[in-house]
Amino acid sequence: MTGTETDDTVRMAELTWQEFEDRIDDGPAFVPIGSTEQHGPHLPLSVDTVIASEIAERTAREAGGMVAPPLHYGYKSQPGSGGGPEFASTTSVHGDTLRRQVGDIVADLSRDGVREFVIVNGHFENEYAVREAIDRHLESGLDGRFVIASWWDLLSTSTREAIFENVPGGFPGWEAEHAGVVETSLMLYLRPDSVNEDAIVDDGPSRNPPYSMKPAPEDTIPHSGVFYKATHATAEVGERGLAEVVEVLANGIEDEWGA
Ligand SMILES: [Zn+2]
Repeated sequence: MTGTETDDTVRMAELTWQEFEDRIDDGPAFVPIGSTEQHGPHLPLSVDTVIASEIAERTAREAGGMVAPPLHYGYKSQPGSGGGPEFASTTSVHGDTLRRQVGDIVADLSRDGVREFVIVNGHFENEYAVREAIDRHLESGLDGRFVIASWWDLLSTSTREAIFENVPGGFPGWEAEHAGVVETSLMLYLRPDSVNEDAIVDDGPSRNPPYSMKPAPEDTIPHSGVFYKATHATAEVGERGLAEVVEVLANGIEDEWGA
């Protein structure tokens, strides 16, 4: 092997340790964080990890940097935003486990000399465990500066409004958009072969009280695992949304940390 095979990759796992060392100062380390969670009858369990990884890799190609191997398990899926443990297959970790894993990874990369980190989150419930991991990293006196982004927050209001313009009921809030229009659209664009288009349904809970209940009553969780109107998903929406998310994140990194 001449080395050309790895010259273009942004995936840390595909580098040798010497190649990694050579690139430490070339840009931030991206850490994608996903989940293993049901996403309806039409999408694979890996949706959150696939989307976070793709955003991280595409942004690294724009803005520089390396992408650490993704975390495939996330903080506990909740009844109102993914169905939680009611669904076979959804495999979650406690917040403390996620917090420690993110903290350990960031601390080790930090000891290698990485100073800038971009945490790309693909699973709604991960947010605060990840933030706590970074808070503790800094409180412990370790170095580093961090951009922490959940991809849906990077979509502009105008793009979001355009996506939901013709969806009856409009935008339901990100916690309820699970396996719905945007996640399905992103997967139709990124992994069309992994989407079972014949199985796409519009669904949602029969009722959605403004508080959480545990155990969750059956009528607050849709049986299909789809929480919104996935039939309105298209690959074009996925392409447009992804392009904006990557652009906003790459520009943010440049604005915050650029020379
Ligand atoms: Zn998801």
